[in-house]
Amino acid sequence: MSPLHLVIFGRQGAGKGTQSAHIVDAFGCVHVSTGDMLRAAIADETELGLAAKAIMDAGGLVDDDTMIGIVSERLSADDIVANGVLLDGFPRTPAQAEELVAILGDRSIDAAINLEVPIEEVTERMLARGRDDDTPESIAKRLELYESQTRPLLDWFDERGLLMTVDGLGNEDDVFGRVRSALDALNGTDPQVGSGGCGE
Ligand code: ADP
Repeated sequence: MSPLHLVIFGRQGAGKGTQSAHIVDAFGCVHVSTGDMLRAAIADETELGLAAKAIMDAGGLVDDDTMIGIVSERLSADDIVANGVLLDGFPRTPAQAEELVAILGDRSIDAAINLEVPIEEVTERMLARGRDDDTPESIAKRLELYESQTRPLLDWFDERGLLMTVDGLGNEDDVFGRVRSALDALNGTDPQVGSGGCGE
């Protein structure tokens, strides 16, 4: 049984965090959310947290070198080497995507889930949840950066047959039902992913 290495994509407010919790529960990989890591750094008032807070509140992106450093360190930890990973919020730029492939090496990505929710719906959801960085200006900026920096990365996964687009509209359990069927369908279908998942 080899551990699964997954990436989850989707607009801000698409429900990546919620679905990630279900996925790691069902498939046993480790959830790595760069947004959560940065918010923890802010709460702990670390150097990273202090530097990241203003950027995050304004809806900007923390610089690639910093993010690559944090993620590569996390990916080398024993729990991930043993159980695999679900990356949420990384990669977000072309430079991060290139680095991810270099970091993982022969632990290749098994699949990328794309949680598809229209702009109007995610905007409403974010305004309703009211996180510190969920101001109208920050939301608009993050959605714009998603389209220009992150969405192009989906093509890379698509070209390799690794992209699974899932309709993210509807209640949490229905959406997870779709995610689960997509991930279950991985097993045994593609030579790269057929080596088994962490849920087996
Ligand atoms: P959202 O998807 O709603 O923006 P996240 O929790 O994924 O929420 O990220 C919150 C913020 O953290 C981002 O707006 C950005 O400032 C920063 N961030 C998270 N991941 C990255 C990353 N991979 N590269 C650069 N900045 C990041």
